[in-house]
Amino acid sequence: MPASFWIDTAVQTPAHSQIGGLLSYRCTQAVQPGQLVRVPLGQRNVLGVVWKVHASPPEGMASSAIREVISVLDGLPPLDEPWRQLVQFSAQYYQRSLGEVALSALPPQLRDLTPEQLARRLKKQVTERSVQTAPSPSLSTEQTAVLDQMALGKGPFLLFGSTGSGKTEVYLQTVQGMLAADPQAQALLMVPEINLTPQLEERVQARFGAQAVVSMHSGMTPAQRLKAWLAAHAGHARIVLGTRMAIFASIPRLKLIVVDEEHDPSYKQQEGARYSARDLAVYRGRLQNATVLLASATPSLESWHLSRPATQDDPGGRYQRLLMPSRIGTGVLPKVRRVDMNKQPRRTVLSAPLVAAIQERVERGEQCMLLLNRRGYAPVLHCADCGWKSECKHCSAFRVFHKIDRTLRCHHCGLTERVPRACPECGNADIAPIGRGTEQLEEHLGQLLAHVLRPDGSPVRIARIDADSTRLKGALESQLAQVHSGQVDVLVGTQMIAKGHDFRHITLVAAVNPDTALFSSDFRAPERLFALLMQAAGRAGRNAAQSASSEMWVQTFHPTHPLFEALKKHDYPAFAASELTERTAADLPPISHQALLRADARTQEVAQALLNAARETLQSQLNADPATADLVQQVSIYPAVPMSMQRVADVERAQMLLESPNRMALQKMLWHLHGVLHQVRSQPEHKGVIRWLVDVDPQSI
Ligand code: ADP
Ligand code: ZN
Ligand code: ZN
Repeated sequence: MPASFWIDTAVQTPAHSQIGGLLSYRCTQAVQPGQLVRVPLGQRNVLGVVWKVHASPPEGMASSAIREVISVLDGLPPLDEPWRQLVQFSAQYYQRSLGEVALSALPPQLRDLTPEQLARRLKKQVTERSVQTAPSPSLSTEQTAVLDQMALGKGPFLLFGSTGSGKTEVYLQTVQGMLAADPQAQALLMVPEINLTPQLEERVQARFGAQAVVSMHSGMTPAQRLKAWLAAHAGHARIVLGTRMAIFASIPRLKLIVVDEEHDPSYKQQEGARYSARDLAVYRGRLQNATVLLASATPSLESWHLSRPATQDDPGGRYQRLLMPSRIGTGVLPKVRRVDMNKQPRRTVLSAPLVAAIQERVERGEQCMLLLNRRGYAPVLHCADCGWKSECKHCSAFRVFHKIDRTLRCHHCGLTERVPRACPECGNADIAPIGRGTEQLEEHLGQLLAHVLRPDGSPVRIARIDADSTRLKGALESQLAQVHSGQVDVLVGTQMIAKGHDFRHITLVAAVNPDTALFSSDFRAPERLFALLMQAAGRAGRNAAQSASSEMWVQTFHPTHPLFEALKKHDYPAFAASELTERTAADLPPISHQALLRADARTQEVAQALLNAARETLQSQLNADPATADLVQQVSIYPAVPMSMQRVADVERAQMLLESPNRMALQKMLWHLHGVLHQVRSQPEHKGVIRWLVDVDPQSI
């Protein structure tokens, strides 16, 4: 009889199974934690990660009842301890099963490979990936100061640097310094959105050579993802560049993590384990002793608060704040101009002075960019006779009118129908759009600028970039390329175009209708709006020669709103200070910590009943035990309410907010809640619940 090892193995477990759930297997070959194995699960043969190895079978289980490992993928070095700790922490913190987090952190193709197939892939690897270092520009005084501070400090660092201040150059030189000190070191550079990866990829490759870099994002084929993952895991790739998913890459010699545009909500995963890649970056940095650099022109209030300087009665935050207020060279930030829409004729879409300013720039051969955060032609169709509106029958939302193919589309469930010829309720033929989206803005602009000519006498060219115009693969890249190469004079789009792009010839940016976010029920809406407008302003005048004449226009009915006052001065610190004062007064994050428990059901009553039952059971159980009674005092649990998007695709959604000044207390509460939920869910009166989920540190409530 060969020797036996008993291993606890992480395998893909269903989302709603109990947390924990490592499975035991027997293995006749010596294995180590972190190795990959193929194991039987029911009738299937699945990939697993060895978590623990024991010399004897688990207590209380007959060794004959334990199934045997099918094969060990022993060509692959084990996933190291810090990686496993990162996965374990994420599963625990975000309330998901370890197996789910571990397996979804691996490239999908790895799940389907036999050891032989994997061995073939490993043989084909490029093991010698050379690094070339191209010359770099001499640094600005501010860039030099930042690099000096990073060399002396430990971090985590928050680099607060204006748009165009040369943050990317700081990342490149930090990588360069890291490789000079240790040629085997690896760096992880993260960007919030997939469409920002090509731009950074190009700059990193130009500096360090194409072989030094691998990318990781969901736009890659499974084969490309596996190849990149293997190169990082084997330590061959010096630089890993990716979106939030890259935080889980295996990078054994990780010495630096950069989170670019760290404020961006896209760093928070919105399904499955709802992790924040930014927060995990800080955690991972500590695990692997890697420097963490978060950077933004408009930091999240969380990071801003965590990097506050010490005062007499406050020891300060644990991040170190670094500053780069100036644009590179002679560049200055655009002048902000507010148009008071109260003084414009009723129903004005684009005010006369803005149209005149756009015309002037087009005639000079410069580019303009118009932002409107709503795609489609009009957000709703309306019958003035009977009051009918284009509601979606499956969601608590209106269907959006898309003129291009004459459809009404629900942006939540996808329901799409031809626009009716007449009102479906009363037959009135005169149904009209209310409000406007990017499609209509593009059309309207075409009419307003029809007579405008470019310097060479040719007509103005208007383009639109939003989720509709970029649906086809490669469409966004080619549209962006047209903007970069000057084939577009006026660009209309949603927030998609406001972020990160290094457009060189835009000298005017306008926010057409930003007011709605001022009065949103979500306390983060002003923070988002301010960041978006600052980012948008950052697209103007990136060419230093044109920056002095560049402008950011804001059309608003509230021109004296403090948010716009701060924007006018490009004064993020003033905006952040006033927001933090409000958050402190209201006990909101980052002062307190939150989690949302959500339930979905066919009716709102059923969804809410589960949440309220969980709350009552939880509180009475905790109160009954003196060891846990003070948790009830430390964590507020609010009654269940409908979500703001209450119904999507015929599913009713309810949520319950948990809030505490103490993160640990909140975590403990969630741990108890998990057990209670399984208990309550199995009661017959909650049979109608479709699913429940927990969102820790939610980004919208
Ligand atoms: P950010 O990332 O802060 O928006 P970038 O790093 O993209 O800024 O820099 C803006 C522009 O300035 C880029 O075109 C970049 O190549 C250039 N740049 C950055 N640092 C320097 C420098 N030290 N000397 C000259 N040009 C620089
Ligand atoms: Zn009608
Ligand atoms: Zn719908």
